[in-house]
Amino acid sequence: MTGTVYKSTGSWYTVKTDNGKVYECRIKGKFRIKGIKSTNPVAVGDLVDFKLETNNDQETGVIENIHERQNYIIRKSVNLSKQTHIIASNIDVVFLLVTLNNPTTFTTFIDRFLVTAEAYGIRAVLLFNKIDTYNDDELVEVKYLAALYRKIGYECIGISAKTAKNVDKVKSIMEGKVSMFSGHSGVGKSTLINTIEQGFSLKTAEISNQHQQGQHTTTFAEMFDLSFEAKIIDTPGIKGFGVVDMDKEELGDYFPEFFELKSECKFNNCLHINEPKCAVKAALENEEIAWSRYKSYLQILEGEEEHYRKNNYDE
Ligand code: GDP
Ligand code: ZN
Repeated sequence: MTGTVYKSTGSWYTVKTDNGKVYECRIKGKFRIKGIKSTNPVAVGDLVDFKLETNNDQETGVIENIHERQNYIIRKSVNLSKQTHIIASNIDVVFLLVTLNNPTTFTTFIDRFLVTAEAYGIRAVLLFNKIDTYNDDELVEVKYLAALYRKIGYECIGISAKTAKNVDKVKSIMEGKVSMFSGHSGVGKSTLINTIEQGFSLKTAEISNQHQQGQHTTTFAEMFDLSFEAKIIDTPGIKGFGVVDMDKEELGDYFPEFFELKSECKFNNCLHINEPKCAVKAALENEEIAWSRYKSYLQILEGEEEHYRKNNYDE
């Protein structure tokens, strides 16, 4: 039998088949999935093959195979072991909720998020929420940002989770897919999900109020079916979504507008900083590339360097 992992409690996995039957499954022996060593062999979102067995009069499953993951998001533990935990896999679309104020979402935060989505290979959509609260100047700013991100290929929708404005557009993107929602605490994630599906509440909200950030909390993701053929993955305690290790040379590839110009730079390993005949710097001067994007790029690059120094990586 084949099904999708909806929940994991460490040793048991809740698996749902295509026709909606739910089985508690466990694993026997060890799995090795190409290219990744993680503390959890099976993650929420995985498509698995399992066989049934009878356990104290109950039908349970034994997972025998994991289908190749389309993508997955990870969390690295902060302690010395630096173990990797797979939070969830096979995510079709990730929505980032953005608000100008209450709370402020800075473009550097948006850009870091988009870089991560690109690195993971997950489609990202920006939702500018709370548009019912903005004055004319603020609406101009939202339009400016939406235009900036649309130009480089990201879908942007101005919404109000409260008045349900444009929420139908979000729903139509979600249909038939597995979605995730991210954004700072207070941007309206819970409100939006509740407008999308009445009576549904996110764990994300509850947990982030109880624990302070940076504490050693285990991240249990869970998948839910909504009423309109949409699935969402709820991951407590995640406002961004993970950090990916990457080489400095790789970062520019995750800025689509930089990547497009890369072949026109004189050096093929150009970091677009001080190199001569850099097409990215030229586009920046011509205002074809936004300064805010370039600023984020430099900031992430610096952060990466610091990260590597601190961790003394040799790999
Ligand atoms: P979360 O932390 O991202 O889940 O944010 P919440 O959904 O809890 O929302 C935080 C606050 O913003 C709540 O007081 C909501 O009522 C309010 N809020 C969320 N979306 C909107 C919106 O579109 N318009 C307005 N005016 N308020 C909103
Ligand atoms: Zn360059």
